Amino acid sequence: MIATLDGDRHEIVARDERRTPRDSADSIVRALAESARSSAREAGIPLHELLAVGCAAPGPLDHRTGLVHQAPNLVGFKEFPLGPRLSDALDGLTVFVDRDTAMAAIAEHAIGAARGARDFIYVTVSTGLGGTIVSGGHMLRGATNTAGEIGHWPVAFQLDTSRDADADLPRCGCGSFGCAESFAAGRNVADAYGVADAAEVYAAAAQGEPRALTIVTRAERAVANLAVGLVNVLNPALIVVGGSIADHQPAHVLEPMRRAIAERAFRAPAAAVRVVPAALGGDVGMLGAVFAARERLSGRGEWFL
Ligand SMILES: [Zn+2]
Repeated sequence: MIATLDGDRHEIVARDERRTPRDSADSIVRALAESARSSAREAGIPLHELLAVGCAAPGPLDHRTGLVHQAPNLVGFKEFPLGPRLSDALDGLTVFVDRDTAMAAIAEHAIGAARGARDFIYVTVSTGLGGTIVSGGHMLRGATNTAGEIGHWPVAFQLDTSRDADADLPRCGCGSFGCAESFAAGRNVADAYGVADAAEVYAAAAQGEPRALTIVTRAERAVANLAVGLVNVLNPALIVVGGSIADHQPAHVLEPMRRAIAERAFRAPAAAVRVVPAALGGDVGMLGAVFAARERLSGRGEWFL
């Protein structure tokens, strides 16, 4: 996708979407480069006139060097130098890589629901569950840039001490147990019900089907616990919630978060926070990549670097 920027105004001038290749990292880089070239052609902009390229990728990754440490869903992405390789494939253009949720937070801050906020948390409830934390006007990166991986915030454990702590709990893809993602992400909700799409589970729950209701209620409790933890520990002024599940099922995502915060978070941070839907929809990661590229190129990216 190519967007032109003028201050906070933006216009998407070309778009090219294609499936992620599943055979090798080389194929993925080639597809990304072809997609960028195709967008540039469509927009009538010679490649060498582009100032920079932004690329949102699944983490964990090093946003300074463009090295992706580990992306289990992308073949060959283990300690993979995505930024440098994509730059080579695009005739040496400068490429800025960052986590998809970081890019989303940058876009929501620049032109979306978090405009002007200095303390906010971006949460995405989609196929997976992730986020990015902005505190005191700075994006929290942590020692190795995994801060904000809130999908792996544990929200449950087995209370019966004669059994293992993970007994009866879904195992998370990260290897741990009790993670918010393992209950509330779309993929996990669908898996728990034995279907391909979480929408089927929410539809069945709406019809009162008991097993679907159980799974949906657990998902609600997971995001509720997560929300209380985020509010008590990080004291955000805003929690911006996006992602396909949140967009389509706000009553099962935003509402349980709001209720739990009102009922049992500390009073002062509960009174100071608003839980709002994200504003930018499915383009948020790509728009964030474009804004991030501009800000880093101009040296104005301190708040998120
Ligand atoms: Zn996990």
